[in-house]
Amino acid sequence: MVERLRQHYRIRDERVLAAMSDVPRHLFVPEALQGRAYGDHALPIDANQTISQPYIVARMTELLECDRSSRVLEIGAGSGYQTAVLARAAGQVYAIERIPELARQAQARIRSLGVYNATVKCFDGTMGWSAHAPYDGVLVAAGGPEVPEPLLAQLKVGGRLVIPVGASRDSQRLVRVVRGEDGYKHEEHGACAFVPLIGRYGWSNAT
Ligand code: SAH
Repeated sequence: MVERLRQHYRIRDERVLAAMSDVPRHLFVPEALQGRAYGDHALPIDANQTISQPYIVARMTELLECDRSSRVLEIGAGSGYQTAVLARAAGQVYAIERIPELARQAQARIRSLGVYNATVKCFDGTMGWSAHAPYDGVLVAAGGPEVPEPLLAQLKVGGRLVIPVGASRDSQRLVRVVRGEDGYKHEEHGACAFVPLIGRYGWSNAT
């Protein structure tokens, strides 16, 4: 999997590649799918959600440009896989998941792997997590109609926010927002297809 990320997908950040090779992805997928855990695809997890394709996890982590001193907010912890990867690449990770069962499982998995610099909580992540703001990086693993305002406000100057944005799942683009001294710069990083971001500053239901 890591060779494919390096050779085919041109992931260059060694910290990201090391994190992806450290975290046992098969422990984050349903038992019946463990044989496919390292393939080049997303897979279904509980509650009709998905664990993202390895390339997407690597690319989003690379775009965050974090290091051991970074404080990162993650929205949409799902299986907890991206959380565990971020915990290897960053200093402190605050992760939010709106489905209680997934949040509980994600927290239990990362603890059982000995990851102590990440916390998973259950609430609407489109509101951000103001108690630990501002963040060096914000990673949103579900697609919204636009970039949620509270997440922009909770970004440090110099910080990066990565999120899929689009009117439907078929028209999402991966967007990175970099906060500068005098405003926010938006960049586009290709097409993607994520499950919907549901919440006050996201979609109002699962359509
Ligand atoms: N990074 C995860 C991907 C999970 S899919 C992984 O690798 O497993 C996206 C997740 O976002 C789903 O679990 C979904 O429940 C969650 N989600 C959607 N809207 C949310 C919101 N407003 N706040 C928190 N989590 C949300």
